[in-house]
Amino acid sequence: MDFALTREQVAFRDAVRSFCAEHVTDELRRITGTFGDEHHPAFYAKLAERGWIGMQWPRAYGGQGKSHTEMVLFYEEMALAGAPLGRYNGSVVFVGSSIIEFGSEEQKKKYLPRIANGELTFCWCLSEPNAGSDSASLRTMAREDDEHFVVNGQKVFISGAHVADYAMVAVRTNPTAPKREGISLILLDMSSAGITVNPIWTIGGWRVNEVFFENVRVPKEQLLGEKDKGWSNLLKTLNFERSGISTVGNLMRFYADEYIGMMRTVTVHVKDLSARGEEAAPAYDAVQQTSLKHISTLKKLEARPATKEAKASLAQAIDAGQKAHDAASQAIAKSLGR
Ligand SMILES: Cc1cc2nc3c(=O)[nH]c(=O)nc-3n(C[C@H](O)[C@H](O)[C@H](O)COP(=O)(O)OP(=O)(O)OC[C@H]3O[C@@H](n4cnc5c(N)ncnc54)[C@H](O)[C@@H]3O)c2cc1C
Repeated sequence: MDFALTREQVAFRDAVRSFCAEHVTDELRRITGTFGDEHHPAFYAKLAERGWIGMQWPRAYGGQGKSHTEMVLFYEEMALAGAPLGRYNGSVVFVGSSIIEFGSEEQKKKYLPRIANGELTFCWCLSEPNAGSDSASLRTMAREDDEHFVVNGQKVFISGAHVADYAMVAVRTNPTAPKREGISLILLDMSSAGITVNPIWTIGGWRVNEVFFENVRVPKEQLLGEKDKGWSNLLKTLNFERSGISTVGNLMRFYADEYIGMMRTVTVHVKDLSARGEEAAPAYDAVQQTSLKHISTLKKLEARPATKEAKASLAQAIDAGQKAHDAASQAIAKSLGR
């Protein structure tokens, strides 16, 4: 199996790394940390200037035709630097990828270039108070009224709803069909009349939102994919997030590098720690191997990354990261005599 990155991919990774060194400053992290928004408009504009928003899309839609491997490299570097990518995730990973996969040609031309140039951001409205893990129980209704859908209902835990220009919303368009057969996806302008957004603060300081829709009128051309057939599309949307472009780099580097680094620092103070560090080394190696294997799997799947194989590969990568974390923690604890 070929694990090596190409020369172009290494150059790209280095470019992202230098960008982060210059632009992901302590001040930026302080601001986004304080407001829990995971979004910073000026930083987002810089990503757009570089052409990195939607860079995997065809040039005709404002992208650069980059590969999934490059997306992974981008995410690794951004995650390692702690860059605020909240709106990027909503706009590119969830919604943009969905528009590419099942949007009409008109919708692709209308939205993707404006997402890519940073003009439009999206949030993804799926979860409801009684439809979390069991998303198919969602009750937000979209009733047809001539050339419009009229949307009523409530979503909860929605990242970025307070800043996004548009939302992709999972709605029920057929209340009498079996629950997986009456769901549709619609693109909805967040400045429409009848929308209320309230904050919910997570224990980790991240802002999510509850969103209420009261008789919100949405033109029918905003339907994304086929009416009542949204369930299978929605599962693909969820797979875009799981297919490895979220925080693999973060996990790898945090679990491996940070803990190994911590052990090195502590060695100065504690006798025999370097020997303990050796104990964690196999787990560290396992993380690196799994990370490379994951990237290689993604390379093979470039055309269709949202698959079960990519999901399984990501799960293995996360599992290896967790094992390294545990091994490193135990090694440190042993060295400290605990
Ligand atoms: C920071 C953050 C950001 C989010 N952003 C978004 C967003 O942008 N858009 C969006 O739509 N949603 C978002 N969510 C919502 C997230 O997707 C939901 O939290 C998730 O779907 C789980 O739903 P729930 O919280 O209602 O938990 P529940 O479904 O109520 O689950 C609670 C617990 O019960 C367990 N459980 C559930 N069902 C079963 C079962 N059948 N058997 C055994 N155990 C079970 C679960 O594993 C979990 O531990 C966000 C959540 C968080 C925390």
